[in-house]
Amino acid sequence: MAASAAIVVRVRKKIMNKKQEMTYPLGKRPEDGELLEVADGIYWARMPIPFKGLDFINLYLIEDDDGWTMVDAGFNSGTIKKLWTQIFDKYLKGKPVTRLICTHFHPDHMGLAGWVSEKWDIPLTMTMGEWTFGRMLYLESSEDVPDHVISFNQKVGFTETMMEKVRSSGFNFIRKSVYNLPPSVERLEDGDVLTIGENDWKIIIGRGHSPEHACLYCAEKGILISGDQVLPRITPHIGVYPAEPKANPLKKFLDSIDRFSELPEETLVLPAHNDVFIGLHNQLSFYKDHHEERLMRLKMACDAPKTAFELLPVLFDRELNENDQRLAISEGLAHCHYLVDAGELTRLVGADGVWRFQIAEKTETVAA
Ligand SMILES: [Zn+2]
Repeated sequence: MAASAAIVVRVRKKIMNKKQEMTYPLGKRPEDGELLEVADGIYWARMPIPFKGLDFINLYLIEDDDGWTMVDAGFNSGTIKKLWTQIFDKYLKGKPVTRLICTHFHPDHMGLAGWVSEKWDIPLTMTMGEWTFGRMLYLESSEDVPDHVISFNQKVGFTETMMEKVRSSGFNFIRKSVYNLPPSVERLEDGDVLTIGENDWKIIIGRGHSPEHACLYCAEKGILISGDQVLPRITPHIGVYPAEPKANPLKKFLDSIDRFSELPEETLVLPAHNDVFIGLHNQLSFYKDHHEERLMRLKMACDAPKTAFELLPVLFDRELNENDQRLAISEGLAHCHYLVDAGELTRLVGADGVWRFQIAEKTETVAA
């Protein structure tokens, strides 16, 4: 235990040092309804997100010969439609938006995809994994919470108060936060190259935060549009959800890091939250260290069987409100499942049907 505690201290120190090396070269952010030029022909817009946690999303416009490529659309809200209209009127130099790319299906990115697509009469361009997942959730939306969602939340240790909230809040968040999601798509795949203006942009797929997240990399300009796959100041949310109860997204996320480590350290990263930054390798190794430290905490805590809910204080240093707790449980499960698949933890099912996790060498009972 003492040796593990020493490693925790060492990893924490490493994390703190790395955090200090990030740089934010622009030193400013675009105002509401305005664009800020990041590089020749590449513009940054910010739009509000109407829920707690992340206040803003960054969206990008790239100038093409005869139009504009948009990367991500923003949440479905009247305010954001107004802000886009203001930007379209003021900045597009009389050229139309000709291509809309959404990095992934989350509603702050894809919410207004249908609106943009209708407005400019253009298709939605996404990876098949993101579009189908988003489309499935959109079509699955209902007032009543489906049985598989109830049973998943019970299995992962939601308290009775949390279950009441789940039942009363319904299952139509995606339907409310996404405007008419287009019923067809133009598919993006890993390694695809899109020519926009004079430059080639390569599609790099990242995983873990979402099923098949598209990032765009322009080697000539040394720019990566990273969506939520690489974010400064915070770690992307990595969670397990009812559609895939035994998923191991943390493994996918950590494996994806290697793809982005191949890009030059001086790459200017245009993320979907917080600020444009330089320090890609620092941030990627911060992620590795951060998750390594969390996995170690888990192993130490799972000396005796614990539910994902019971593990929250182990994984999170801050106070969590009820909404945070739900996301935190899914994040905790992602860490538990990583260790289960690595053979280090066992997933046990008690008489109450709830999953508990214990160090594998201590487990005598049959695993789930
Ligand atoms: Zn996201």
